[in-house]
Amino acid sequence: MSDPSISPGNECIIDPPQFAARLEAAARVQGFRVEHYGRIEKTPLLALTKRTSGPRPRIYISAGIHGDEPAPPLALAELLESGLFDARAVWFLCPLLNPAGFTCHTRENADRLDLNRDYKALRSVEIQAHARWLQRQPNFDVTLGLHEDYDARGFYVYELNPGGRRSHARAMIDSVADICPIETAMVIDGHSVAEPGIIRPIADPLLRDPWPESIYLRAHHTQLAYTIETPSSLPLRQRINALSRAIQVAVKRTCDAHQRGHV
Ligand SMILES: [Zn+2]
Repeated sequence: MSDPSISPGNECIIDPPQFAARLEAAARVQGFRVEHYGRIEKTPLLALTKRTSGPRPRIYISAGIHGDEPAPPLALAELLESGLFDARAVWFLCPLLNPAGFTCHTRENADRLDLNRDYKALRSVEIQAHARWLQRQPNFDVTLGLHEDYDARGFYVYELNPGGRRSHARAMIDSVADICPIETAMVIDGHSVAEPGIIRPIADPLLRDPWPESIYLRAHHTQLAYTIETPSSLPLRQRINALSRAIQVAVKRTCDAHQRGHV
């Protein structure tokens, strides 16, 4: 069945209040706890969590920090509805970090702040509220931040892995290679690539300013942070599918490694 929010012309309209209602409904069906950690106009800032007792890896996934990147929240909504987020892990989902950006169809929020540069200064109400929510959460085994890139011609990932943990970057790249081109540029967004499609930027929060979400997570919550980028020039369905594949691979590898006892 075709998704009414995805028209053939690659136009996508995420209406934030409606989309939040869709997410909440799916979350409740899937046994998630729904928290409103803030509100931007008519849209709650949503955090969806699900805990299963016993030792489980803790997986955090966020989307929708840039309002002109619809594939990430749509991919996360579809995976939530599909039941991917099951009893294998403890889940922390923030599926629409910047509702006002989607209302205005802008990368930034209504005050023209790029929220993914605001995790050190904490100027925006959105990121102040998100940071307050994060402060109440435990550490995560892995974090996945979902994005699109208007300049890229292929899929790529940033990896922050200061402790040299088992990497999922190559597996994510390999998993999408048959459905989406992989970025071939040697320099992406000012960073030299470590290997095709993989950037390992400076991970030390003290050496970075401003802070994107991943650096904040690295500073306070995780030793393994991924930012996953899909090229905006591709059809929306292809972008959603590529993000979805990468998430599934990272989730599976995280859960498998945890079961085997090495994180
Ligand atoms: Zn982005």
